[in-house]
Amino acid sequence: MTKWTLRCESCGGEKVLDVGFNLYEFKRVYIYCPKCRANTFHIVVGHEEQSE
Ligand SMILES: [Zn+2]
Repeated sequence: MTKWTLRCESCGGEKVLDVGFNLYEFKRVYIYCPKCRANTFHIVVGHEEQSE
């Protein structure tokens, strides 16, 4: 699994998402933002490989 750091384009809030696929293939990801309390576009700002 890879931990992806995503930043909401609306509020600038960051969230971490655990997914098994490469989010760099997507320019933007449309997911729920808890701050906006709505689905918004998020950009990928970084990732972290998990060793286990
Ligand atoms: Zn937001």
